[in-house]
Amino acid sequence: MSIYDRFGVRTIVNAKGPSTRLSGGFLDPEVAAAMTEAATYCVEMAELQAGASKVLAEATGAEAGIVTSGAAAGLLLGTAACMTGLDPGKMSRLPDTKGMKNEVIMVRSQRNFYDHAVRTTGAKIVEVGLPDRYAGAGVRDAEGWEIQEAMGPQTAAVLYVASGGSQPALEEVARVAHSQGVPVIVDAAGQLPPASNLKRFLAEGADLVAFSGGKAIGGPQGSGILAGKRDLIMAAILQNLDLDIYWEQWAPPETLIDKKRLCGAPPHGIGRPCKVGKEQVIGLLVALQKFVAESDEARGKRFRGHIDKLYALLADADHARVQVTGGVTPSLELTVLKDSPRTAMEICIELERGNPSVHANPSRVRNGVIVFSPWCMKDGDAEKIAARVKPLLRY
Ligand SMILES: *Cc1c(COP(=O)(O)O)cnc(C)c1O
Repeated sequence: MSIYDRFGVRTIVNAKGPSTRLSGGFLDPEVAAAMTEAATYCVEMAELQAGASKVLAEATGAEAGIVTSGAAAGLLLGTAACMTGLDPGKMSRLPDTKGMKNEVIMVRSQRNFYDHAVRTTGAKIVEVGLPDRYAGAGVRDAEGWEIQEAMGPQTAAVLYVASGGSQPALEEVARVAHSQGVPVIVDAAGQLPPASNLKRFLAEGADLVAFSGGKAIGGPQGSGILAGKRDLIMAAILQNLDLDIYWEQWAPPETLIDKKRLCGAPPHGIGRPCKVGKEQVIGLLVALQKFVAESDEARGKRFRGHIDKLYALLADADHARVQVTGGVTPSLELTVLKDSPRTAMEICIELERGNPSVHANPSRVRNGVIVFSPWCMKDGDAEKIAARVKPLLRY
């Protein structure tokens, strides 16, 4: 029995990994306990975010940082910050971008569903590059000069989506953007582990970087990090915090918000709906400390146990081949053979609909491969998965 039974909701076996649609991952008991304790006090949110900023600065090498309600919220807040700077009038006008820089340059091959968060601010995305490497027609993608050419007086930022194959290299994008004084925002939501990536994108020239707290870091599902330049973080938090307060009464911590630099307090900003609770802030910080304290190798080893067990249980499955694949995090690939009674897609669907509901990574089902990830597996899950998978491979 779980709390979900009370509300008629099934719990699932999550072998897909932390994804928002499947409620992220699950919290380490220490993180959950920290959130429960945090929930029993009240604090000033600006002071809490200033405390968070110190922790995030140390973990990422940034000047400052804030806890957001997710990486997508970080993209929204970061874009708004690049458009308004520290001008309360501009903050109050968004998403009406009259009188401010309102274009965000993106490499066309990096466009994705999350850039809706950028457009939410009123910014217009300007695409560059023709990625013919994806059409099987050529080898090229966007190049630095194309970003250079797209920049002008209306350019507020360049958004760079980090992944193994992102082109051009971030250093080159940063060099080109900075030559015109344009900041670079990096979407690094899913780029952990390795833990060294916490510092990498800022070191390579990013002005702001957004991470998801609910993915590998193991924080609350609705949490994230935005870290980077002090002024941009100040502009971002000003558009996120609730500012229902008289000017003379308002005494935010200087390390996060330097009141002397403002001509007035903006009203609730474009990022106010991206509200983050004190429990999320504390949960993210404690999870981040645990994430940084554990080496990538130790983490990999911990996950390896689930994958080895699943491999042993599925090794003799009919009409399929299993294989453990490495990388920073191991996973198990089940290749469904041509003579199987069901296709990989049919097996995935059956796994999800049956009881217990099992979710695997379906990104390669069209090639006959089902991937099982250990990130969100608990003790006993390997047995449950094998018991569901094997009958589906039999006639
Ligand atoms: C997951 C993801 C996001 C969104 O992260 P949230 O923390 O869920 O808001 C944004 N961008 C990319 C590339 C992602 O993979």
